[in-house]
Amino acid sequence: MLRTLIKNAIIVTMDPQRRILKNTDLLIDGSTISAVGSNLKESADKVVDGTGRMVLPGFICGHTHLYGIMLRGAPLDIKPTTDFLQILDRIWWKVDSAFVNEDAYASALASCYEFIRSGTTCFADTYSGPGSIEGVLDAIAKGVTEVGMRGILAFEATERNSKSEGARGLKENVRFIKKLQQEPNDLLTGMYSLHASFTLSDELIQKTREQADKLPSPLTIHTSEGLIDVYHNIERYDKRTVERLFDLGVLGSDVVLAHCVHVNHDELQLIKGSGATVAHNPMSNMNNAVGVTPVKEMYELGIPVCLGNDGFIFDAIENIRTAYLIHKVHHLDTRVTTPQQIIEMATINGAQVYGLGEKIGSIETGKQADLVMLHPNPKVTPILPEGVYGYIVYGCTAHDVEQVFVNGKQVVENHKVVSVKANVVEKALERVVPKLWEKLGITTE
Ligand SMILES: [Zn+2]
Repeated sequence: MLRTLIKNAIIVTMDPQRRILKNTDLLIDGSTISAVGSNLKESADKVVDGTGRMVLPGFICGHTHLYGIMLRGAPLDIKPTTDFLQILDRIWWKVDSAFVNEDAYASALASCYEFIRSGTTCFADTYSGPGSIEGVLDAIAKGVTEVGMRGILAFEATERNSKSEGARGLKENVRFIKKLQQEPNDLLTGMYSLHASFTLSDELIQKTREQADKLPSPLTIHTSEGLIDVYHNIERYDKRTVERLFDLGVLGSDVVLAHCVHVNHDELQLIKGSGATVAHNPMSNMNNAVGVTPVKEMYELGIPVCLGNDGFIFDAIENIRTAYLIHKVHHLDTRVTTPQQIIEMATINGAQVYGLGEKIGSIETGKQADLVMLHPNPKVTPILPEGVYGYIVYGCTAHDVEQVFVNGKQVVENHKVVSVKANVVEKALERVVPKLWEKLGITTE
């Protein structure tokens, strides 16, 4: 097994004590972090200089849609949207209806390429597309595996067109979770995903809950991302969104609620009491103009929050910076977020909410070696342990991502993606994007 020794780095452990270790070595043995300490004398096949560099656990994107990348720069001819449902109806549902499995594969390649280039090593994806359900998770898994990332994959079940479409979505998740049980894979995890309460019947929500009890895997659902959820549930059920989910018995410690922008104090109490967690997607929420997630209140109640990108901007540090800033301006109070809190969201919290806290999310002996090394060059000010979180949030960019390891394997070396070639990614996209865009009325010639 390949042994890599990182020498003399600042190790930002994100361990329970949040230790930051100066002038420290780290040994990767195969897929595992096998030693962390000063002046390690172990032999290694490869030595990486960590002088002036920070090593962190790889960033974890707690909620994404890899396919989102397929619309980059697409000049869609649509009427301006005025609310969240129109954004789905005029843009995303049109697009995902056009997808075939090959689009899913190409988008996974492209998004994962961008993810690792900026230090993300693991993500939780929910794919959507009524014309590409059966087998699509295998197509996505292929792309993720070629880039060498760690992924939590799910199909987003919805009954927006028909009940049978919802059942097929759930079935695809069960198939994939069972497949991974039979053929365990170090990098891949299956998940149950439900779209959002306003496109789901009580029956499908409960059936998914029962399935997750029988065959355990995390379960995620978009929750009050826009006001449409709230209005829909009040109108039909005389309940707010989280109240309905709670009454259906779906909430639990295996449930990650995506967004939770429009949740009130009573709903936050229900989330807290159930042990459910939240995936916060600030850049997407800003782009869709849906509002600001009450993260301050979530922290006050002790609700675990991880950080997602919702398929929008695959740059972890940009996302971290946005999460750090948005709550300050929202509350007109500089104290509401700290750099450490946001980096926790983007690392250890992401691992814990998806049940991977024993395996990844921090730098500790015995954990899987998912690591990002940041090298500010030139280093403008001294990097001190007390200031390291602030150094990242205030100063770092994806350009500082020098080395990235996933499961002990180096995927970025000296700022360059080495696990897959850029032209392989481009070719896969060239094969599908013109066809996809043509279905959306865009000619690329
Ligand atoms: Zn989403």
